[in-house]
Amino acid sequence: MIPFANPSLRFQQFENRLNQSFSEVLNSGQLILGNQVEKFESNFSQYIGTNYCIGVNSCTDAITLSLKASNINSGDEVITTGLTAPATAIGIINSGATPVIVDIENNTHCIDINAIEDAISEKTKAIIPVHLHGFPADMPAIKEIAKNHNLIVIEDCAQAHGATINGQKVGSIGHFGVFSFYPTKNLGCPGDGGAISTNDVRAAEYIKTLRNYGIKDNRITNTGLNSRLDEVQAAILGVLLPELNDHNATRRMYARKYIAELESMDITLPVSSEDAVYHQFVIKVKNRDRVRQQLLGMGIATGIHYDKSLKYHPALANYCKELPIAHKACNEMISLPIQPEILDNHFDEIISALKTVLVG
Ligand SMILES: *Cc1c(COP(=O)(O)O)cnc(C)c1O
Repeated sequence: MIPFANPSLRFQQFENRLNQSFSEVLNSGQLILGNQVEKFESNFSQYIGTNYCIGVNSCTDAITLSLKASNINSGDEVITTGLTAPATAIGIINSGATPVIVDIENNTHCIDINAIEDAISEKTKAIIPVHLHGFPADMPAIKEIAKNHNLIVIEDCAQAHGATINGQKVGSIGHFGVFSFYPTKNLGCPGDGGAISTNDVRAAEYIKTLRNYGIKDNRITNTGLNSRLDEVQAAILGVLLPELNDHNATRRMYARKYIAELESMDITLPVSSEDAVYHQFVIKVKNRDRVRQQLLGMGIATGIHYDKSLKYHPALANYCKELPIAHKACNEMISLPIQPEILDNHFDEIISALKTVLVG
């Protein structure tokens, strides 16, 4: 069976260097909030192009902490997209604010700009666009809306480390960028991790206290979370960050190859873009379940991102507007393997199976 994704294959490629960084941490005697975290924060903010980066435990917490630092909580509304990891909405709910979940745009599958405008109320305080599947959301339009309504913009970059808009990295365009280093992400560690990028010095300082219970000068003045990036994960991320551009370029190369091979098929393909980082390579087909089943029969595992819009989660449904475009996309999407470490060995096999199944 060709797996859909296998992050261990990537870690194994850098095994010696990762083991070395692990030993360094063990021998340093500093296991929590030490040099490795500081060094990674500095390198990652430089990579993204912001003045500050704060390492945290996950993207879910990064969303909660960005909202807390913006003084957004109970009674406030935060607009986000109906097609994303449920974690995006959970991060909002954990802050005390109310998510207002709106439909997507049919081509990019990112949040629909008109739907944002329609959802703005007196209570709206922030917008959280998601750069879904590694494709940047329409940030110029979102920033314009935010400016007109005085809203905070938090970019969910969990699927888009290194993606760009007009040469500017996502995560440096809104007030905050929030990242996940979950193992399968474009930049992943063998555990949990996350980060917040920002140019706001006051928010950055505040988030540094909030991620560590809220402690400042040995006193809790505002209650926070226990949400630290640990030294081991930071050290490993420090080894993998310099490899990220090559990794993304290889994903783009395979995306171009998929597109060239499948162009004549009766399916919807993602666009070829130098701005995207192809966290997923998502095609849309009419008879999705049959296609996935047949591919599986030929030894090829695929994924779906996502099989349901957020409206289908019982605890999230009440926060959702009508989501017809997301709903339709969810019924047609298939994520093909796009991890370079898998395609390096199996691309031809996958293409030949796809061609057989898609004409059938
Ligand atoms: C993975 C993901 C998250 C959650 O990240 P965690 O680090 O697991 O909290 C949030 N948003 C999106 C778009 C994701 O893909």
